[in-house]
Amino acid sequence: MKPTIGLEIHVQLATASKLFCSCPASSFGAPPNQNICPICAGDPGVLPVANRQAVERLIRMGLALNCAIAERSVFARKSYFYPDLPKNYQISQYDLPLAKGGRLQYFSGGEKRTARIHRIHLEEDAGKLLHAIGAQELAFSLVDFNRTGVALAETVTEPDFNNAQEANDFLTTLRTTLRSLNVSNCDMEKGEFRVDVNVSVAPEGAALGTRVEIKNLNSFKAVRDALEYEIKRQKEALAGGEKIRQETRLWDVKNAATEALRSKEEASDYRYFAEPDLKPLIVSREWIERVRGGLAPLPVSRAESYEGRLGLGSKEAQTIAFHEDSGVAALFEETVGLCSVNGQAVEPKTAANWILNDLLGNLKDKNRSVADSGMTAERLAGFLKLVRAEGLSSRLAKDLFAKMLADPALEAGSAFKASGVTLLSSEDALLVFIREALQENPRAVEEFKSGKERAIQSLVGAVMKKTKGQAHPQKLQELLRRELTR
Ligand code: ZN
Ligand code: MN
Repeated sequence: MKPTIGLEIHVQLATASKLFCSCPASSFGAPPNQNICPICAGDPGVLPVANRQAVERLIRMGLALNCAIAERSVFARKSYFYPDLPKNYQISQYDLPLAKGGRLQYFSGGEKRTARIHRIHLEEDAGKLLHAIGAQELAFSLVDFNRTGVALAETVTEPDFNNAQEANDFLTTLRTTLRSLNVSNCDMEKGEFRVDVNVSVAPEGAALGTRVEIKNLNSFKAVRDALEYEIKRQKEALAGGEKIRQETRLWDVKNAATEALRSKEEASDYRYFAEPDLKPLIVSREWIERVRGGLAPLPVSRAESYEGRLGLGSKEAQTIAFHEDSGVAALFEETVGLCSVNGQAVEPKTAANWILNDLLGNLKDKNRSVADSGMTAERLAGFLKLVRAEGLSSRLAKDLFAKMLADPALEAGSAFKASGVTLLSSEDALLVFIREALQENPRAVEEFKSGKERAIQSLVGAVMKKTKGQAHPQKLQELLRRELTR
């Protein structure tokens, strides 16, 4: 039995105003029904005007996902009757969407995969119903229209996923991609990235089974859990000779189960027709090409260049390129740029290690982003150059890095000075300790002389111990080798 999964993702576009009026798009934290006007509240006789910024965002998204952008697309009325939709229809796009036929590459289980994008269209969001205030259940429902009319991009994929993990990995890549494009903040807690899944199960090689839709999944965990539950439920039903009903189900987090909501609507239930209050949406070739010219590279191509051009391991490359905080990739690239000598990147691996181990570890503890850590490319590059130039031991370097994280105004140079560490680099002083160490460790000396290169490490350690870690590591290596080979 093979599961087949398709995804529909509603993403709130990052725009200043709503899709068809000038009300502010963001109402987070605002009192209910504050950001509304006759247009988004659906009063009779008003005329919507399409938001240029929303159209531009969707073009950018469509191009990044390799879609064809339609120079002429059409807004359509999608009728349904629900109290959060004051017009009793949603303005969406139907047979002529703005973007069609794309694909997005992503990594799953260490392998690069491609999911096909069926279409991406523009539509307006609905309002919110309140059935409770805090813990207090209401005997009635309240409606907040602040979100009504906010610009959404609805992405519909082809049924190209066969398990929950693939769907999950595609979705995290999509979110990183949209964030790096500044198309949407994709904040799932604010409902800016909402997922519907379609899932069916059928014997290997057979035609697709009857599909069930699970709507409004608001976290990646919910997507994975709901899919795993539903695949199991369908397999068991089919094994028991039951038929799967085409229906819409809800994911009940509390009971960790899907439950039937309604039989699935067909397109005809929505009575789509072209929106008479809006002209067809015409976007010029020049506009599309201008947007294409401003596109930043996608996470997949970033990961490939980190691995190929900069020599990172594939895991490191992917972790940086696909990090949900797009500031991570930006910091890495800028730092590598600043550390370049004659266009040649100097130790990108070192930069990656500091970012992955020390910076991200620290931020994770405090739930902060790179942007608010105060760690800029200039500071990090300054730090890396100092560590190199002074040949700092990893313990000293770590101390210094921690100080810079604690104080965003502190530059590597002054942090190093303030640390009071003066590395012991005078030849005379170092030789005293080195000669002592050689006398005390005759076996290591023998081993080194008989060709065991690694034996030098224990001698380095011995000198470091005598100097309380303050010997200049590069000088020490040089002098030690000189003494051993003379
Ligand atoms: Zn409005
Ligand atoms: Mn929709």
